[in-house]
Amino acid sequence: MANGTTYEEAIAGLEKLLSEKGELEATAAEKVKQLTAELAAASEEKEFDPVERIRTGFNNFKKEKYEENLALFGELAKGQSPKFLVFACSDSRVCPSHILNFQPGEAFMVRNIANMVPPFDRTKYSGVGAAIEYAVVHLKVENVLVIGHSCCGGIKGLMSIPDDGTTQSDFIEDWVNICKAAKAKVQAESKNLDFSEQCTQLEKEAINVSLGNLLTYPYVREAVVKNTLSLKGGHYDFVKGSFELWNLDFNLSPPLSV
Ligand SMILES: [Zn+2]
Repeated sequence: MANGTTYEEAIAGLEKLLSEKGELEATAAEKVKQLTAELAAASEEKEFDPVERIRTGFNNFKKEKYEENLALFGELAKGQSPKFLVFACSDSRVCPSHILNFQPGEAFMVRNIANMVPPFDRTKYSGVGAAIEYAVVHLKVENVLVIGHSCCGGIKGLMSIPDDGTTQSDFIEDWVNICKAAKAKVQAESKNLDFSEQCTQLEKEAINVSLGNLLTYPYVREAVVKNTLSLKGGHYDFVKGSFELWNLDFNLSPPLSV
C-alpha cells in the first residue's frame, strides 16, 4: 500500500472510478475485490502490543507457576538462598532460567554484554562489584557460574577491534576489552583458524579471563581458598544444542559435556 493511503481510501477511490467510467468496470471491480481481501487480512494481522504481551506473560506465569507452587513462593517470600551466582550474556537467546531450568530462588544473576566479569574496580565496575559482593558475602552462594554462548555478538565485537585499539562505540568496545587478554591468547594460538572459529575459541577463553577476574575480589578469593565457593565456566551452543562445563582449572581437567 502506498504511504499515506489507507485501504479504505483506495477502495473508495476505485469505487468512484468504477461509477464514473463504466468501461473500466470489470478491472476496477476486480481491484476492489483484491483490496478488500487485503484489508481483511491486514486487520486480522494484529500489531504487536507490548502491554498485552506483558499482561498475558504474567497471567501465564501466575497460573502455571505461581499458583501451582504456592509453598515454594511462600518460602521465597521470607528470603532467598540461591546456590549459584550466574553471569550470562544479555543476548535474548541465552536466558539461564530457560537453558538450565533455574527456578525462582536458585540463581542470583548478572547479565551483561558477553557475560564478562571485570576485575575489582570500585569506580569503573561498581554495578558488577555490588552484585558479586552481595551474592558472595551476604547470600553466601556456593558456586559462581560464568556462561558464554555461540554466535556471541559481544565476543565478535571484541575480536573485531582493530590492532591499533581504536574504538567507535561509547561503551561496547571498552566493556568487551575486559577480556582482551583472551583475545591475545586466541590470536597467538589459533592463527590458522578462520574468524568465526576464532570467535568460538574466544567465547570460551574469555570465560577463563572472567574466572580469573573473580579472584581479584577479596571475598571471592577467600571463599575459594576455604573451599566454600567453586568457580565454573560454561558454554552454551544454541546451534548444536549442547552445553560444556568446566572448573576454574580448565587446563588441568577436560571439559564435561552435559
Ligand atoms: Zn552474547
